[in-house]
Amino acid sequence: MTESTLPRVMLITGGSRGIGAATALKAAADGWDVCVNYTANTQAAEEVVAQCRAAGVSAMAIRADVAVESDVIEMFDESEAELGPLTCLVNNAGILHPMSRVEDMSVERLREVLDVNVLGAFICAREAVRRMSTNNGGTGGSIVNVSSAASYLGSPNEFIDYAATKGAVDTLTIGLAKEVATESIRVNGVRPGLIDTEIHASSGVPDRVDRLAPNVPMQRGGTADEVADLILYLASDASSYVTGSLVNISGGR
Ligand code: NAP
Repeated sequence: MTESTLPRVMLITGGSRGIGAATALKAAADGWDVCVNYTANTQAAEEVVAQCRAAGVSAMAIRADVAVESDVIEMFDESEAELGPLTCLVNNAGILHPMSRVEDMSVERLREVLDVNVLGAFICAREAVRRMSTNNGGTGGSIVNVSSAASYLGSPNEFIDYAATKGAVDTLTIGLAKEVATESIRVNGVRPGLIDTEIHASSGVPDRVDRLAPNVPMQRGGTADEVADLILYLASDASSYVTGSLVNISGGR
């Protein structure tokens, strides 16, 4: 068996829609077996799974809240039982609240975004390392964290809470990459700018991408497919000497 025909298994958190779904479809087209995680929209997740299977790979959907430790552990166990050992985690699940100034943010709101975007990313990364690290008997792999351009823009008057969670994701990427560098695990991050997905509806401005496109040097929003291409590159052996990198994909913003 050559390296490229070895089974490759990718678990994508928040894989039922947007950037996660585009990543699942491109991964399947590239021969990865795929586990699609979601929390609410079962139909969307099952549609992604059906399209992955149509590409000839094994695929499954698992409902799990990334902010709930027991959900995450069960998800990794179920994925491994059905698809075999994990070789890539795409830490993609993320949420956004309606635009607000910090002075108006409730503790409940802050806790929720921190729980999903930071705690969730940490728990999933932990479970991936426990399974993939050569120190633990694993065969290695890669982790791609989906951060945001918000981490360096700060998102004033919109969602500094969200931006700060992405700052934490960047730090997770930098630190974990160094921590597991000799354990055959690479850890990288992507920092998308304005990407045309449903997430903007949760900010209260569904047409946010069109509205802000004139502020982007390239004068347009990006697509989930464009981000997925970058994620696939960082997941694959094509990026074998890349770790601890935060790659902006934001049209120059
Ligand atoms: P999206 O279209 O809103 O999709 C979000 C996905 O995450 C859905 O599959 C959703 O599943 C899942 N999800 C939400 N909460 C979850 C939880 N607690 N546990 C597990 N899954 C959960 O979002 P997107 O725009 O593709 O964003 C994906 C990632 O890219 C996020 O981390 C986001 O912060 C980041 N990002 C997006 C943009 C952008 O402009 N779109 C820019 C920069 C960064 P259900 O529907 O089942 O809940």
